[in-house]
Amino acid sequence: MSSSTLFVNAAQVVTCAGPPRARRGDEMRDAAILTRAAVATDGGRIAAVGPQAQLEHAYPSAARIDCDGGVLTPGLVDSHTHGIFGKPRFEEQELRAAGAGYMEIANRGGGIHSSVRDVRARGEDELFALALPRLRRLAAHGTTTVEVKSGYGLSLDDELKSLRVIRRLQSALPLRIVPTFLGAHEIPLEYRAKPHSREEYIALIVNEMIPRVAREQLARFADIFCEPGVFTLDESRTILGAARAHGLALKLHADELEPGGAAELAAELGATSADHLAAISDAGVRALAASATVATLLPGTMLFLGKTRQAPARALLDAGAAIALATDFNPGTSPTVNFPLMLTLAVSQLRLSVAEALLAATVNGAAALGLQAETGQISAGYSADLALFDIEDVRELPYWYGDHRCRRSWARGNACHA
Ligand SMILES: [Zn+2]
Repeated sequence: MSSSTLFVNAAQVVTCAGPPRARRGDEMRDAAILTRAAVATDGGRIAAVGPQAQLEHAYPSAARIDCDGGVLTPGLVDSHTHGIFGKPRFEEQELRAAGAGYMEIANRGGGIHSSVRDVRARGEDELFALALPRLRRLAAHGTTTVEVKSGYGLSLDDELKSLRVIRRLQSALPLRIVPTFLGAHEIPLEYRAKPHSREEYIALIVNEMIPRVAREQLARFADIFCEPGVFTLDESRTILGAARAHGLALKLHADELEPGGAAELAAELGATSADHLAAISDAGVRALAASATVATLLPGTMLFLGKTRQAPARALLDAGAAIALATDFNPGTSPTVNFPLMLTLAVSQLRLSVAEALLAATVNGAAALGLQAETGQISAGYSADLALFDIEDVRELPYWYGDHRCRRSWARGNACHA
C-alpha cells in the first residue's frame, strides 16, 4: 500500500457515482454528495471512497492530501475543444458588436479561414508551444480530460501536423487528451473555385486523410461540421461512413445555426455525440432521446456570439436524451478555458439544476468520449481524476461565476494543476 494516497478533510466529496454509462432523466437529479468522506487512490486508480475514519484505518501508511475544507469532484471532462490554433481572433468581437455577420467577418479575412491560413503557416513546434499553456489553463480550472480537434489545417499535411501536435501534448501533459480528426470542418478556399471543387476536397478527406489518420492512429474520433452551407447530410454520410470503416468513432457538429437534420443523422449513424444543437428540431430531440448518442451542449459559444438562443436542454432532458456540457474552446466563437463558467451558463441559461450540470460535465462528458468506464466519477476502479475547489458547497461552483476556484487537480493520480 506504499503508493496509496488518501484525500482527507473535504467538506464534500461529490462522487457522481453510478453506472458506467451516460445518465438520463431522473438519474441526473443526484450527484451523490458525501460528507466526512475520504478518497483512497493507488497506482493512479481510485481504490476506495468512504467514511474518512474508516479509510484512515484501512490505509494507515498512505500519503495524505489535505483538502482543507474544500470540495472534491471528479476531474471535469471537456469533450469538445478546438485547442490547436495559432493566433487568437480578438478583432472579430468588435466587428460582431458592430453588427457584422459570419459572411462579412469572413470577407474581411476573419473566421475559420483566417485560422486555417495561420495554422498552415506555422510549424509543428510552434503550434505545440502555443497549445501547451492553453491546455494548462484548461487544467487550471479543473479539467482533467480534454478532447482536442484538428480542423484548422484542411490539407493532408496540415491536418496531420495538427494531430501530431495533439500526440505530443499527450506525452507532455498529465491531462488525458482525446484526439479528434476534423478535416471536415469547412471546405477550404482553394476547393471553392475551378479548377478544384468541393467534391475533390471530400474525396481527399475520404481517400487520403482518413486512411492516413487511421493508419498512424492519430485520432480516436472523426468529426464533421454538418450544417446547411457547410457539409450537407449526404456529404456527412459519405465522410463519416469512411471514418467508421477505418475504425474511427463518430462525432458531429450538428444543428448549430439552422435545423438541418444533423441530430437525426447522428442518431441514425450511432455517433458517440452530436454537439451544439442550438437549432435542433423536435424530430431531432426525439431521435437523440431514442439513441445512445450524447447531446453535447456548448452554452459558452452562443453567449460569446451574442445570441439569445441556446440549445433546448430541458426538452432534451425531458425527452430522455443524455446531455453533456463542454467549453468549445476555440479562437473564434468560444475562447474560454473556464469549464466551471459553463456550469454557470448551464444553470442560468439552460435551466439545469446543479446536479444535472455536474453530471453533464463529468459522467456524461466521459460518455461523449467513450470513456464512461474510465473517468467522470469518483468510484473504486476509476482513474484517479480529481479536482479540488475552494468552496464549501458544490452549489458555489456555478455561483461564483467566472471566478477561479480550482485549487488543485489530478489526472491518473498525477498533479495537473497545483
Ligand atoms: Zn466545435
